This record gives sequence, structure tokens and C-alpha cells, in this order.
Amino acid sequence: QKPMVHVEHLKKYFQVRKKGILKAVDDVSFDICAGETLGLVGESGCGKTTCGRTVVKLYPATSGTIEFDGRDVSQLKTKEEIKWFKKNAQIIFQDPYASLDPRMTVGDIVAEGMKNHDLYPGKERMERVHELLSLVGLNKEHANRFPHEFSGGQRQRIGIARALAVDPKFIVCDEPISALDVSIQAQVVNLLVRLQKELGLTYLFIAHDLSMVKHISDRVGVMYMGHIVELASSAELYRNPQHPYTKALLSAIPVPDPEFERSKTLIPLEGEVGSPINCKEGCRFEKRCKYATEQCRSVTPQLREIEAGHYVSCHLLN
Ligand code: SF4
Repeated sequence: QKPMVHVEHLKKYFQVRKKGILKAVDDVSFDICAGETLGLVGESGCGKTTCGRTVVKLYPATSGTIEFDGRDVSQLKTKEEIKWFKKNAQIIFQDPYASLDPRMTVGDIVAEGMKNHDLYPGKERMERVHELLSLVGLNKEHANRFPHEFSGGQRQRIGIARALAVDPKFIVCDEPISALDVSIQAQVVNLLVRLQKELGLTYLFIAHDLSMVKHISDRVGVMYMGHIVELASSAELYRNPQHPYTKALLSAIPVPDPEFERSKTLIPLEGEVGSPINCKEGCRFEKRCKYATEQCRSVTPQLREIEAGHYVSCHLLN
């Protein structure tokens, strides 16, 4: 099966004034098949959000390839081509407080994309807004109200309705539950899972801890300072983590997961994440890794398939 999203050697660098180059995403490759969810996890600043935003063209890529439905996204030039991509590849943002315009009614927020894409004209549009609100667990009376009248969880439901309004195939879920109360998080995850099944959606689901992505992801990529350091099926990653950073992330999950046999090799995560500005050759996890050798300090490890579908970048495994 050809992937819906194909990302190859993607780089996104930012020039930071007086400091140098921030390599937020540095040579990242992955595929996402139709109907699949790829989780992307890592600590703050690891590049996961930048990666998601670059994939949907909110940021221009510095280099590398992004293909969507077999088309090279960088070659989409005409207004029609860009519209086609924007309609099919949507994003749900992390902060449901900042991402909704406080001056617009919920109905207008949800309808905006349809207007931009000339979808559901006339009175069909408001009918579609009502349908979407009910799909995400709200009701049609909510269309005339403003975002500040809603709780965080409800606002995220509005954000989801807005993303769905243009009938996308693919959605980047950019930490959609991180800003919500723990009690609400499961509800929003369950909603996303149900919508995926009902509408046949494909997700890139970004989160900062592995426990959050476990239940929603078919496969998970672990990011550290701009690199994917491990990529495997969700079950394999939990059962058989190989990269010292993945093991450390799993050690950091506070409540032991009965499905996950804690191996003796799990290591606590100590020390600070280094700076991704002007970083040199070598493994970026080296300063926090108890297995680091001279080779780790000078040679950047490459992502390598160690078992079918299980990729790791670590000199220990070469
Ligand atoms: Fe540790 Fe070296 Fe592996 Fe990096 S390459 S994770 S420093 S052992």
C-alpha cells in the first residue's frame, strides 16, 4: 500500500538572531498509510510540533520531500493545487484557548474553512455546522455562542469540528490534549478515535509523553533534538524499546503499565536537553546517555531497521 504521507529527509531550520541556526527538524523520514495513526513523541523543544506544522505547510521546509497522496507538496504552485492540499491536510492545535478567534461565533469559526474552500453553499453551510457540532458532542445552539463561553474540552471539540469542516483525509493533531485537564483528556482522545473510524481519517498525533500516544497510535516515532531516534509499532515500542532515550521516557511514565514489562535495562532520564542551536556531529543524546562512547561524540548515528518495521538510531545497536 502506498503511503498517504511520505516524508523523506525533512529539515526545518530557523535562523536565531545572534545565536546561529536552530535545527528544529533535522533529517526526519517517515510514512503514514491511509487510516493509520503515527504518534510522534518527545520532550518540549524536540521538534515534533515544528515537524507537524511543516508537514501541513504552515512552515516552509528548509529541505527534504513531503508527498501527499503521491504528489510532491513543494511542487504545488497554483491556487487550486494549494487549496487541494489545504483542504485535505488539516491541523488541530494544542491550545484551545489561543487557537479560536474570540470575536467570532462558534458557527462562523467552524464555517470559515467551508467558505474559503467554497464548500456547502447557502443554507447547507449552517446545516453542516450543526451536523459537525453534533458529531463532536456539542449541539446546534452552541453555534451562536462565543469561544469564551466554553470549557477547555469543549473548545478543543470546536477546534476538531473546524478541522473536519472541509472533509480532510489527514489531520495533524498537535498535542490536542496537553492543555486539558486530565479528566477531560480521555474524552477527547476517545472522540478522535471514534471520528477516525467513522470518517476514515489518517492522523499524525503529537504528544510529549508515551502514555498519551499509546492508545491512539498504530506506530510511534520518538524524537530527540530534531531527530527520530526510534520508530516502531506501538506494541513493539512498549514491549521492546531499544534506544536509551525511549527506555528513559518509558521509565518516566509514573504509573506502571501492566501491559508493559519493565525491563531491567530501563534508565531514568537525567540532565537537561541540549541546545539544538549550532549542534555538531555526534549523537544528540550523548550528554544524557550512560552508554556514550567516543564514537557517539563524533559520529551521528543513522536510523537503521533492526527488525522488520523497528528502526533505531544508536551506535550500541550497530
Ligand atoms: Fe547513547 Fe551513543 Fe546510542 Fe547516542 S549513540 S544513544 S550516546 S549509546
